[in-house]
Amino acid sequence: MSQWASITDISTSVQSGSVTATELVERALSAITDATEFQAIIATTEVRARERAASIDERVKKGEMIGRLAGVPFIAKDNFLVFGAETTAASNILKGFTAPYQATAVERLEAEGAICVAKANLDAFAHGGSTENSDFFTTKNPHNSEYVPGGSSGGSAAAIALDLAPFSLGTDTGGSIRQPASFTGIVGLKPTYGLVSRSGVVAMASSTDVIGPITRTVEDAAVVLDVMSGKDDLDGTTIEKNREGYASLTDAGSVSGKRIGIITEYLGQGLAPEVRAVLDATTSKLQAAGAQIIEISLPTLPMALAVYYIVCPAEISSNLGRYDGQRFGHSASEATNLDESYKLSRGQGFGKEAKRRIMIGTYVLSSGYYDAYYKQAQTVRTKISNEFAAAFEKVDFLIGPVAPTTAFKIGENVSDPLQMYLSDVMTVGANLSGIPAISIPAGMVNELPVGIQIMAGHNEDRALLQIAKQTEELLG
Ligand code: GLN
Repeated sequence: MSQWASITDISTSVQSGSVTATELVERALSAITDATEFQAIIATTEVRARERAASIDERVKKGEMIGRLAGVPFIAKDNFLVFGAETTAASNILKGFTAPYQATAVERLEAEGAICVAKANLDAFAHGGSTENSDFFTTKNPHNSEYVPGGSSGGSAAAIALDLAPFSLGTDTGGSIRQPASFTGIVGLKPTYGLVSRSGVVAMASSTDVIGPITRTVEDAAVVLDVMSGKDDLDGTTIEKNREGYASLTDAGSVSGKRIGIITEYLGQGLAPEVRAVLDATTSKLQAAGAQIIEISLPTLPMALAVYYIVCPAEISSNLGRYDGQRFGHSASEATNLDESYKLSRGQGFGKEAKRRIMIGTYVLSSGYYDAYYKQAQTVRTKISNEFAAAFEKVDFLIGPVAPTTAFKIGENVSDPLQMYLSDVMTVGANLSGIPAISIPAGMVNELPVGIQIMAGHNEDRALLQIAKQTEELLG
């Protein structure tokens, strides 16, 4: 049982005065202290959180309306610019950096009364799938501390699995919300590309970076998305939200008559039989409830991982160019001229994985290789997007595993980047084509949780949340 009520119930209680924001913040902070051994958190924002809670309590006393997230504590992945603590993206190069402004997503949550209490661990710059690439420490899976929580939003996911707060924020460039949600047994939503502003979030790969909520229930994810989403002048890629919003899913109806496609390409080699069994059990339940389950093929999808690991490093190599040791972040003090300062600052500040991606990215963008790699990858990317669009002409949703396996052991994949990248094989497709996708808990395998992934067409986030809620109910 969670110590937190639903997000809507919490804010109603704060607004009515039956619980104070201060009590909630203290509860989250002491839960964080009690769970230190799992290393989900990089830093708390406790001073600012307590101040905000006190001011909300004061306003409630005066009879003011606070908002839809009145007094609700949350935890942000440490690549969100948030006041009250450093923003490091778990990298040494950003150690000591404090944000001069806040992420739009955080601003919108705060405007409705939410209170950030801590910053969560991640793979440095969100490069990874286990938090082992964090320059600071590895987060442990709450279900078994010998295992990874997934990544890169591993700290955010573990925080919710550990019940530290009602919700957390993650980013999903290639699966970083959905895969850790699956590994830790909670809900992780990657909205349609552009639905949540990326302003104030440390950029990884700008054409696939998406911000989303990590929660215990689909309904909570819907409420958080509703508050964060919509156009923002600070991010030109943002889109309008659904006119009905996302918060109320009560008109969800039933799954009866819904056409759900199982992606053939995700059932092949590499899929652990136990994970397959959980997927089969889920689709059987959906079928019994009246859904039509159809096998559907996206023939180019097996190329998605290769495409992602060209496009993504290309964009990373460009985005990480700003960390030059001159304007912010780590600057090598021993440098005697500008060139040396660049080299030393970047050489000392970036970890192995960031360097690997900068080198791959620069290579695939370099003259002579651009056509063979980057341009080719973009062509195949368009083909994959077209295949997704064609699939959604035939079915309402697609369903499949989130990752080929459950959580792996800490250390198991660290020396083999390719093996690590394979964990993303079923998530990167949605990022390359920009469609929304969600991971919901579907079962346990050898005492480790496993989720299933549901995807929908562009801008169908509302429909996606509805089917996810119905599936969540069917799974009990
Ligand atoms: N694991 C993937 C990678 O390493 C995805 C990361 C992400 O979504 N931030 O690139």
